[in-house]
Amino acid sequence: MRRVTVLGATGSIGQNTLDLIARAPGAYRVVALTGGRNVAQLAADARRLQAEIAVIADETRLDDLRQALDGSGVAAAAGRAAVIEAASRPADWVMSAIVGAAGLAPGLAALEQGATLALANKESMVCAGPLMLATARRHGGTLLPVDSEHSAVFQALVGEDIATVERIVITASGGAFRDWPLEQLAEATPEQAATHPNWDMGQRITIDSASMFNKALELIETKEFFGVDPARIEAVVHPESLIHALVGFCDGALMAHVGPHDMRHAIGYALHHPDRRPLPVARLDLAALGQLTFRPACEVRWPALRLAREVMQTGGLAGAVFNAAKETALDAFIARRIRFTEMTGVVEAVLTRLSAHPGHNVDDITLDKVVEADHLARVTAQEIVQSR
Ligand code: NAD
Ligand code: MG
Repeated sequence: MRRVTVLGATGSIGQNTLDLIARAPGAYRVVALTGGRNVAQLAADARRLQAEIAVIADETRLDDLRQALDGSGVAAAAGRAAVIEAASRPADWVMSAIVGAAGLAPGLAALEQGATLALANKESMVCAGPLMLATARRHGGTLLPVDSEHSAVFQALVGEDIATVERIVITASGGAFRDWPLEQLAEATPEQAATHPNWDMGQRITIDSASMFNKALELIETKEFFGVDPARIEAVVHPESLIHALVGFCDGALMAHVGPHDMRHAIGYALHHPDRRPLPVARLDLAALGQLTFRPACEVRWPALRLAREVMQTGGLAGAVFNAAKETALDAFIARRIRFTEMTGVVEAVLTRLSAHPGHNVDDITLDKVVEADHLARVTAQEIVQSR
């Protein structure tokens, strides 16, 4: 039986992961499930899947969790340190599906115990790509992408020599405002931004799709994961979202990964890797689809893409600063303190202010340095938001 742990089990990726695990009773032993605040969901899943331990990140909810698990035999714990402890329990496969920079330390803890880490938490690669790869190497852990674009690239690269890759193209749905007139974007509300034209995801990543901060993170994630020159990485808008990514080779061939938008494909690929197993995802009827369309990923409409290029050029801790500034700007937008179109300005101002910070252009990225850069970027972003 494979021992599995799901970090961020109560979220959108976490629930899809549990769906796949629950379909194969007897194949998996669930070690730990963690959630942020949703005690009822966490406890119900931990009972149903007979997890060893359930951990809620919000410390104030420990009593609630204990009550909800009473008599189940599932251990309960709470707090940030407990989430990291859960991640470091021996397991063969760990899903990293906490949202934001909070996912970094638990993911590292899982890699340190030599697990295969299925990485949905793209922020880990954006903030600390070299550290993630080095930790996996040092402890014999394996890192597999779960972000659909990166899973697509990973699959297109099986059996190929990375040196023959000419370009990597990741696709973007364009999010909620892809067809809005530019001048209306300043009036966009959080509710409008959180409505995705193609699928259901967590609130934050859905708003990040509308602003393309999500795609900006994914460009950086592509650079870190596959180690390719940023000049070879492109984004294109593909409203149907059926091609997830394409890899172009030196002979001109372009290998596309085409599939329905169901995250259980990328999750399942990582769960069964290196094998392929049947997955409960819809099969595409190409003739019924008729056509697939593409548009340029315009950097005037989506200036976050331009910032991603700057971050990739700068390297060091720029990714950690970018992500933390973005998370703070997103909070401010959700709280209606800044406009949708102001988020990029806040992030750019933070990048500019901290660009000369000593110690930020380092090659040896450590968790402590990331935590410090993350904190400084959040404080700086708050100041900038307040001064507006
Ligand atoms: P979500 O908001 O639905 O779920 C996030 C999970 O993290 C929840 O279990 C939540 O309780 C937990 N959490 C939140 N803050 C936490 C904290 N401080 N400490 C511990 N746990 C915390 O998000 P999601 O859409 O499932 O996304 C998870 C990750 O996967 C993100 O990094 C996202 O970018 C990435 N991702 C998501 C999708 C998707 O389709 N949803 C696709 C690709 C990548
Ligand atoms: Mg993605």
